[in-house]
Amino acid sequence: MQRRRVPKPSNSGADGIVGVLVFISVAMLVAGIVMVVTHAPSSDIRAKDYDYIIVGGGASGSVVAERLSRSGRHSVLVIEAGPEIQDDENLVLLGSYTPTLARDFFNTFFWQTAQENVPDVPDWQYSDGRVLGGHSKVNDAVFDRGTDWMFDEWELITGDPIWATVNVLQAFRELETYDSPLSNPSRRGYTGPLHVWEQMTADLQEIPTDMATTFVQAVEQMTNLTRLDDYNDMFTASRLGPLLRWQFTAAPNRTRYSADVAILTPTVRARKNLQISKSSTATHVIFSGSKQAKAVRYLHNGKEDVAHAKKRIVLSAGINTPRILQQSGIGDVTTLTNANIPLIVNNSNVGYHMATHNGIEATFLKNNTHAQSLNLADIYEGGAFLPDPRVTPDPVSPRRVKLVAINRGSEMGLKVIDLQPTSTGYTRVFSNDPLRTVQASSNIFDESGDMDMMVKTVQRYVCGLHEEFNGYGHGPAIDDEYRLINPPLVICNNTGAIEDWIVANADVFSFQWSSMCRMGAVNDDSSVTNSRGSVWGVTGLTIADRCLFPRPHDGDVQAASYLVGKIIAEQIIAENF
Ligand SMILES: Cc1cc2nc3c(=O)[nH]c(=O)nc-3n(C[C@H](O)[C@H](O)[C@H](O)COP(=O)(O)OP(=O)(O)OC[C@H]3O[C@@H](n4cnc5c(N)ncnc54)[C@H](O)[C@@H]3O)c2cc1C
Repeated sequence: MQRRRVPKPSNSGADGIVGVLVFISVAMLVAGIVMVVTHAPSSDIRAKDYDYIIVGGGASGSVVAERLSRSGRHSVLVIEAGPEIQDDENLVLLGSYTPTLARDFFNTFFWQTAQENVPDVPDWQYSDGRVLGGHSKVNDAVFDRGTDWMFDEWELITGDPIWATVNVLQAFRELETYDSPLSNPSRRGYTGPLHVWEQMTADLQEIPTDMATTFVQAVEQMTNLTRLDDYNDMFTASRLGPLLRWQFTAAPNRTRYSADVAILTPTVRARKNLQISKSSTATHVIFSGSKQAKAVRYLHNGKEDVAHAKKRIVLSAGINTPRILQQSGIGDVTTLTNANIPLIVNNSNVGYHMATHNGIEATFLKNNTHAQSLNLADIYEGGAFLPDPRVTPDPVSPRRVKLVAINRGSEMGLKVIDLQPTSTGYTRVFSNDPLRTVQASSNIFDESGDMDMMVKTVQRYVCGLHEEFNGYGHGPAIDDEYRLINPPLVICNNTGAIEDWIVANADVFSFQWSSMCRMGAVNDDSSVTNSRGSVWGVTGLTIADRCLFPRPHDGDVQAASYLVGKIIAEQIIAENF
């Protein structure tokens, strides 16, 4: 099956390559060797020209669109698969915890990605937001920049100072307006588009809650780490410790500041040089004979459309960025051959090295005088960033484990998340039909070190918390009404039983997919792009989303998704690569 070439529109700037392309295209069309997209009769194709085309209007893509259209000198098209939703409370207010969204809206607002070996059976865990604003419209909205340790690694891996912590901090400051009092003002931004607010609690509860205060005391006693007042202070003396309040991309009335609201404001959308094509699903990037990205093919209202880019195409499609690359002929030769997709660039890293965060949830009975809220908006009541339990706690060690204390009525749920697993997964197409689901696997606990880490985490931090609550840890009882009920206490000293419990309960529920198209230095043969998102082996094609992260995020992904959009867009403006 041959790839269809699209005729150059009459109003596009002519160049020799395109002229050849037109000739080939016409010849192919005449010969009838076209790929038939069932939803898109060829007579419906309309051609359009833009300077920049951005695929995906999520966290990263919105920032790229705003930045590239700001000067008014360049025409910008955003192709977004989802609709725009402005008035559905479930998406606008944070109170709708994502599992509720998943239950009620999975088919509508989430991508359908399948697990390995079960093609076409959608799995919520391998999902992502499909709506203008992307995942920022349906996520838990925790705002976590990541630490200086993580960005130092990015700079080291890419060899590019644009990712140096000092630059990253400046970019974060420009992105945010910090709405809460507890911070070091020199590390926060106060004029950016993205509002960040501390804590998400029910209206009538005291902040911090009794549960959060008790939890933090127990973690301090257990680890000898002191409380973090602002876990997003990237130059803090300690990266580690418990915290009373999480920070969210939301207003105090719990209205989400999702990307469509915060970045694509009415003023931005009024720009004459910015067009947003909603409910439009990009299927392929089209290349010239010299492998320059020239156009994007997409489906809108069931019809095929093609938009041409005079300067650059930017992929910010999140979990679908590797899928679009693969459908367009950039990927592992075996994967593409099996899917009957003609090869343009053989790069076995496309869709691979997928990082995520593994997790489990433990349960404690809690003090019944502490608020019994079941208000889903209350879920986060404190947490902690902790080191690998196999090393002696030291405030400047990297973050390895995240704890999130959740108010579940008479119980306290404790999410226990491995932030830096070494196991990696993949997402790959198995068909040349761009509308079919892709296969994905996180290969959770593939590397034995990850299981050992999680077993030690349960022993040291979960069973350890029970000991601190009840007075047989490192000090007096913090509150002996807090008692571990799952996993059962009796397995705390039994490594094998804990391992079985983890296998039975493990999840990838933190949904922090990243790194499927890693950026790297010139000689990095595990990368898909250079340090500025430019895809190896072709020209005019940039990736700007979390797929670029060269290693797993050491917190939550959305803040760095905005950041990547901003930094890459500024490089595009400077044409500095
Ligand atoms: C349940 C859940 C909860 C989460 N909670 C948090 C949290 O609390 N904090 C946090 O930091 N992170 C959280 N995340 C992760 C975070 O929200 C996302 O990783 C982040 O928003 C990613 O931004 P992005 O721009 O890379 O992708 P997205 O925001 O997903 O944007 C990609 C956009 O591209 C569009 N698109 C995809 N394919 C195509 C196509 N073919 N054509 C056109 N458009 C396309 C999508 O519709 C989407 O709008 C959560 C994720 C999940 C699943």
